[in-house]
Amino acid sequence: MNPIPLTVCFMPFAEKRVSLQTQKQDVVLATSTRPCPACHSHECHYLHKMHFVLPETSPLPAHYDVAVCRRCGSGFADSEARAADYDDHYRSFSKYEDPSVATGGGDEPMDRQRLEILAAFLSRHAPPGARIADIGCGNGGLLKELRKNGFEDLTGFDPSRVCVEQIRATGMNAYTIVLPAEHLWWSDHNEPSFDLIILSHVLEHVFDAQAVLKSVLALLAPGGKIYIELPDPTEYDLQNFPPLYFFDPEHINHFGRGSLTYFAHALGLSIVEMGQKKICLQNGVDYPAIFGLFETGMTAFEPGESLYSSLAKYVEESIEGVTQLRTHLLALMGDKTPFVLWGAGSLAQRLITEPWFPLHSLLAVVDRDSKKQGLRFAGKLILSPEIGLQNLPDNTLVICAAAVTADQIKEDYIALGFAHPFHSITEGEH
Ligand SMILES: [Zn+2]
Repeated sequence: MNPIPLTVCFMPFAEKRVSLQTQKQDVVLATSTRPCPACHSHECHYLHKMHFVLPETSPLPAHYDVAVCRRCGSGFADSEARAADYDDHYRSFSKYEDPSVATGGGDEPMDRQRLEILAAFLSRHAPPGARIADIGCGNGGLLKELRKNGFEDLTGFDPSRVCVEQIRATGMNAYTIVLPAEHLWWSDHNEPSFDLIILSHVLEHVFDAQAVLKSVLALLAPGGKIYIELPDPTEYDLQNFPPLYFFDPEHINHFGRGSLTYFAHALGLSIVEMGQKKICLQNGVDYPAIFGLFETGMTAFEPGESLYSSLAKYVEESIEGVTQLRTHLLALMGDKTPFVLWGAGSLAQRLITEPWFPLHSLLAVVDRDSKKQGLRFAGKLILSPEIGLQNLPDNTLVICAAAVTADQIKEDYIALGFAHPFHSITEGEH
């Protein structure tokens, strides 16, 4: 499930922490439906309600509340969805299978560079001959880089059977997995154990992160290490990403330094190293991430640092950002111009729930993701661009709803040779 990608530089934590004491005193305490994915408490504060229009067969919820746990300070999506709904989603809708839309496979130069840097970091912390597992490995880009660094005992786990088959084709071990990995049916080994277990951009996706970590720890050899990397909620960025970008249907957990410290304490781990990093995406934008390397052995417990203030500020600024997007879009196309939407991802899924969005002028939806094509979305069948852009009225606009890949999509569009004006929702006219 490696996300979007690229160059990274590791850095120490900035002194910009938020403590529970700085929370507003008037926030209302609520009881969540979903337990906190880190500590299982139901006491929370709500920040914002998210709405999505999802492809018709999606098992994910069409709305959730962004909540912050009162006990451990983690952020999470509170809804009535069950763990099985997310399992179903990742088994059936994995975008990581399709190299034309996936990242984390090392197929793009910037993605490969990110994975090279991460593999070099991990290699410094793993003994020669280490048995290494990448949980949520997508199509195996990180494992391939580790193999270049001399490691041979490499195993990938992913919910997607297609990803597993792709990795096996390269000669490495790979198994499908449902997290938490309570049933070790994936292997013939009686005592599976690894010296290094990697969860890179996985825990933000899972229903019960504590249960996932517990199950994964059962696979760790004595003295082994576990590496966790996630989006960094204290650095969610409105300059380079559309408003509310970090609250999408798949990213249902928001874990900061306090959450990682909580996990270490709850699971009997000590912190080897923890810090922030920037992942440089293909469009040159930095994606904020947090990482932790842990090993077995108790760590001294520090009081948790709540994400409340960071996430509340992000929500407040995002709402202003949506207003600006509305102004931009309506200036571009008014209320009546026919348009095609290129991209049925989370940005489109959010925007078309806005009451001002001119859905009545939508003619077609196109997307390169083969998993989405053929599904019904916003009343239209999602089509490939080659088909969906045929035979449109002359005054049709092509509106690109991609958060970070608009430039690539524009190149793709130009190569197709259609004459309609192309605009990106996020960046204006191209
Ligand atoms: Zn909690």
